[in-house]
Amino acid sequence: MTAYPHLSSPLDLGRTTLRNRVVMGSMHTGLEDRAWDTNKLAAYFAERARGGVGLIITGGYAPSRTGWLAPFGGKLTTKTEAYRHRVITKAVHAEGGKIAIQILHAGRYSYTPFSVSASAVKSAINPFKPKALSGKGVERTIDDYVNTAKLAEFAGYDGCEIMAGEGYFLNQFLAPRVNKRTDEWGGTPANRRRLPVEIVRRIRAAVGPEFVIVFRLSMAELVEKGQTFEEIIALAKELEEVGVDIINTDIGWHEARVPTIVTSVPRAAFVEFTAKIARAVDVPVCASNRINMPEVAEEILTRGDAALVSLARPLLADPEWANKAFENRADEINTCIACNQACLDHAFGNKKVSCLVNPRAGSETTLRLLPTRRAKRVAVVGAGPAGLSAAVNLAERGHTVDLFEADDRIGGQFDIARRIPGKEEFDESIRYFQRKIELTGVNLELGRRVTATELLDGGYDSVILATGVRPRIPNIPGIDHPMVLSYAELVKQSRPVGKKVAVIGAGGIGYDVSEYLVTEGHPTLKLDEWKEEWGVDADDEQVQGQLKRPNPAPAARDVVLLQRKSTPFGKDLGKTSGWVHRAALKAKGVEQVGGVNYERIDDAGLHISFGENRENPRVLEVDNVIVCAGQESVRELEEPLRAAGIDLHLIGGADVAAELDAKRAIDQGTRLAARL
Ligand code: FAD
Ligand code: NAP
Ligand code: SF4
Repeated sequence: MTAYPHLSSPLDLGRTTLRNRVVMGSMHTGLEDRAWDTNKLAAYFAERARGGVGLIITGGYAPSRTGWLAPFGGKLTTKTEAYRHRVITKAVHAEGGKIAIQILHAGRYSYTPFSVSASAVKSAINPFKPKALSGKGVERTIDDYVNTAKLAEFAGYDGCEIMAGEGYFLNQFLAPRVNKRTDEWGGTPANRRRLPVEIVRRIRAAVGPEFVIVFRLSMAELVEKGQTFEEIIALAKELEEVGVDIINTDIGWHEARVPTIVTSVPRAAFVEFTAKIARAVDVPVCASNRINMPEVAEEILTRGDAALVSLARPLLADPEWANKAFENRADEINTCIACNQACLDHAFGNKKVSCLVNPRAGSETTLRLLPTRRAKRVAVVGAGPAGLSAAVNLAERGHTVDLFEADDRIGGQFDIARRIPGKEEFDESIRYFQRKIELTGVNLELGRRVTATELLDGGYDSVILATGVRPRIPNIPGIDHPMVLSYAELVKQSRPVGKKVAVIGAGGIGYDVSEYLVTEGHPTLKLDEWKEEWGVDADDEQVQGQLKRPNPAPAARDVVLLQRKSTPFGKDLGKTSGWVHRAALKAKGVEQVGGVNYERIDDAGLHISFGENRENPRVLEVDNVIVCAGQESVRELEEPLRAAGIDLHLIGGADVAAELDAKRAIDQGTRLAARL
């Protein structure tokens, strides 16, 4: 008996049957764009099919050059290209899976000077202004979609997904925000819907009876002058009439001011939109966005809010997600923590996509954790992300591993991160590693600050120092004043602070700590509170873009965030998540002061000045000063161990503290484990 009977039940689409309700949502990996990466892409999908996914949807392929996301991006327009795709479809079918190709025309999001759209309306997030398609151009584009769908069928795909969300080309035709046309493709809502509906109709007529058509429908636009929900329901009904097999969910344009997938978005936050569509049509509807664990998925299906669930990032994090759920091993799932750091930040930075918690994602053929032929005794010092990933992967390969941790729990700095409001998902990584330690037989010794002598006496073949970092204490007169706390003391020890607080250092931790300080009691936001905070309207079906005025709860205290440099605040935060942190602090009225010199700290507060000549002195009359001024490596054990000539390795913060994050820590730990 599985704990997830709905999730594991097959779905008969009439044309074909899916083995369960888990859909791998489309995600651009970067491997789509170059012919020589096809085998790697096939291995990546095959691993997910082997992991039990019911239906895989590829990253987006353009139906024409004008539809390219970026110059020389992935497209499917010729038979030669289609032949290449057979490697992918064969690999997935060999694992008992099914796979559909996503057809994605970028429209005005195309990063090329020859982009096209419904009207010549430039997007704020692209320097290129699109040309408005002529009537003939629209007809040609329909032909392009049909051509790609037929080529996909020829390549062995089980179906295609028509991407019409996130503000891409078809969404641009659907929404009055971009569609200013006065011909039959614009003006009234029915005219704006005409192009996507026509595309589905003509694809249905051109492909065989077993070919599945999925339509990715924008359920909530989250931009001004987006479609109303009434219009979105009308579109769903028309799509059903012309023969779509699955309606998949899409939420928010890329230029939306509401976050849709970052870690602070509550799980399954947008499923109420999906549920309304699911009740308006008979065709199966698929829920998506922030569904990362099977219990969330099962609840959605049990309530009848959707017939399927789509997961994209969670399957990067754990290719075996579905099998683990169905075999009642959900506690073994390596959960996606919605950080975006190795997936979307890479995709938007033109780098190959991977995963912070699973560095093997996208490197299936090169980063392999094979059983060892020569088992060793290894000591790992430090159970932060670096040490944990090294320890469990070494043990999985057959080595004998002792893991020493000075603290009384595992996690290292992640154990601080998980206490930040909106970062509760980080708990899941700690749960995963804890379970993995049990499964692989790592010998974990908590509360054990191990010494060099103990390590040398232990007779280990190798020692790995993953002792991480400690907060940097800057050299400011009065830094030892009782009002001063490090971020670790504030958050981990829950130390009380007053109503006025200054934060020294505006890196990722300075931002996190500021959010912690402005949020009274540090609660996890309930969905209704979160919607108020960001201004999401799920009730009024007439309102354009499903937006209302944001109504953030007042800040719990006055916070001043400081940095010495004069560059813009938060510039180095994540590409796809930094704007959310900046907007959250702005909404709470956090004052940001750059270009400061820290003069001293005394009973009056924090004294600062500006510029090389230390001008415009100012006293910040605060109750507390929190130091978030970066970190320094903890590596006292290195010297005596090197002197003794033991096989020694340094990973994570112990190796280099500068620009350290969990992505590098876990990557280094995993790669070392693969080669020892
Ligand atoms: P650490 O996490 O520092 O772990 C080192 C461990 O070694 C500790 O548990 C320590 O107790 C132990 N140790 C040290 N000496 C000994 C000894 N002699 N014997 C036994 N044990 C010892 N990173 C991200 O990528 N994304 C984020 O969103 C993010 N958010 C963060 C938010 C906050 C508030 C904080 C504080 C950090 C955040 N980080 C984030 C950073 C991330 O947590 C660190 O980069 C990561 O934890 C570093 O891993 P590590 O294993 O190298 O070191
Ligand atoms: P950081 O990003 O390096 O920021 C350190 C801050 O301290 C900077 O603002 C710096 O700015 C200031 N600083 C440095 N030395 C100082 C000194 N001697 N005196 C006063 N101020 C000083 O490091 P962090 O914020 O500690 O974060 C650590 C790592 O965790 C980062 O690499 C980050 O990637 C990761 N992290 C990521 C996230 C995320 O959301 N992705 C969140 C949290 C943490 P000035 O020099 O201008 O003063
Ligand atoms: Fe999820 Fe972060 Fe991995 Fe992306 S990088 S899949 S958001 S855990």
